[in-house]
Amino acid sequence: MSEKIQSISPLVDQFSRTISYLRLSVTDHCNLRCMYCMPEHDGNGKPIKHGKFLRHDELLSYEELLRVVRVAVEMGMSKLRLTGGEPLVRRGILDFIKELSKIDGLNQVLVTTNGVLLGEYAEDLLASGVHQVNVSLDTMQRDKFKQISGRDYFDKVWESICTVERLGFKVKLNAVAMKGINDDEFLDFARLSLEHSFQIRFIEFMPAGDAGSWSQCRFCDSDDIMKKIRTIGSLEPSEKQRSSGPAKLYTFSSGGREGTLGFISPISHHFCDQCTRLRLTSEGRLRPCLLHDIETDLRVLLRGNVSDDVIRNAIRDAIFNKPKGHQLSTVQDVVEKSHCSGGMSKIGG
Ligand code: SAM
Ligand code: SF4
Repeated sequence: MSEKIQSISPLVDQFSRTISYLRLSVTDHCNLRCMYCMPEHDGNGKPIKHGKFLRHDELLSYEELLRVVRVAVEMGMSKLRLTGGEPLVRRGILDFIKELSKIDGLNQVLVTTNGVLLGEYAEDLLASGVHQVNVSLDTMQRDKFKQISGRDYFDKVWESICTVERLGFKVKLNAVAMKGINDDEFLDFARLSLEHSFQIRFIEFMPAGDAGSWSQCRFCDSDDIMKKIRTIGSLEPSEKQRSSGPAKLYTFSSGGREGTLGFISPISHHFCDQCTRLRLTSEGRLRPCLLHDIETDLRVLLRGNVSDDVIRNAIRDAIFNKPKGHQLSTVQDVVEKSHCSGGMSKIGG
């Protein structure tokens, strides 16, 4: 690494992005089997065999995770997201979050969840200092929920969402947009935003599932979704944009009411130049870009009795080596150049 780069903040990468946001996949296990992430059946209805889930000793322990977070926060990171797999299925997660909340300088601890266990955990999460949750929900129809996620938990998830909204959490709903699966509900989601306080965000389907479930005919471009929504109301860029990360936020107005919609468009509109993220996979690999398979094995260092300086250097190098961007601009690129072989549940989305 050049002296010039070493002399600036350890969190600034070679393309002048400041990496302040760490995403931890705390487990690769999950209580759902979403068709785009860990599907149980292929397109022909044949059962899919997945690689085994990680054993407990292959996951980073909570002590190891706390150490990494503490070092990252000492380096200047301030925002942390717990994801997975499903973070709420890992035993002891609440105590872990309580320990995280004691780390000075860690301003935000956020959780991304499928919502199945969220209702049960909501009050404890709030008490532990988590005020914002992202809940993944791709459909408002019970049968379709089962078709997409492999489990009949729509009612439970919807109840959880209502509970956290009532408790005053900041809530974002994330829907993966899939042609022929939930594109008939985009307008319903837009209307839902008029009735609730939460943001609803459409995520472009990425070529990243365990079983290569991505296909061109399922892909929905954000611009097309917006066009559709504009047939029932107006969509204007929102002033809340600054704190919204990769989502482009819009105020949706219809019938005298307003809601907030977000569009996350990793394929059609890259946001790599504004990316502030570093990921730690559930097997303890630092991953600077979701769609590039460059990783650093931190677990081997953590278990090798190394000093915090060594961990710090590994984090600094991972940041330094963050690719400028991914190379998926067109659907053809996605087919030819996609790199995300780790599986979304290990990487954390
Ligand atoms: N289990 C939690 C959940 O579903 O919210 C957290 C982990 S999940 C991997 C994180 C996010 O990644 C979810 O919002 C999910 O919808 C999204 N995701 C997973 N596979 C995806 C894909 N192939 N394309 C786009 N988003 C995907
Ligand atoms: Fe589980 Fe989330 Fe993957 Fe769905 S997207 S299978 S809920 S980890």
